[in-house]
Amino acid sequence: MAYDPNNIFAKILRGEIPCNKVYEDEFALAFHDINPQAPVHVLVIPKGEYISMADFTKSAPAELVTGFMRAVGAVADQLGLVEPGYRTLANAGDNAHQEVPHLHIHIFGGAPLGPMLDKRFSG
Ligand code: AMP
Repeated sequence: MAYDPNNIFAKILRGEIPCNKVYEDEFALAFHDINPQAPVHVLVIPKGEYISMADFTKSAPAELVTGFMRAVGAVADQLGLVEPGYRTLANAGDNAHQEVPHLHIHIFGGAPLGPMLDKRFSG
């Protein structure tokens, strides 16, 4: 699948639509999710045209992979989530209901988050 440069996160990266920014560096941008599913719900996206984690880790320069992952950690730290705990999640493809085809890591926190996955799959 080819990267769609008109996806909403590409538009945010180009500054064509606004976001509620929490962090930015040369590798990544982080902003509040428009439809939060936890008291803190932030998205971290890499600066580059990558659809998913598989695409990103296969194609992105090592400096960007490192910088992006460091940004995820820095955002969790900046938001005060490290001590109380938090969850990261990256949906990829149809089975995971990925809505926006630009790699994004969700950061959830601010309260106990409950089970990791749908109870249908636990023993
Ligand atoms: P996913 O299902 O993993 O692709 O998640 C996409 C996320 O992007 C959802 O949690 C949406 O609420 C969020 N989202 C969609 N549009 C925007 C936007 N303009 N600004 C911030 N978050 C958005």
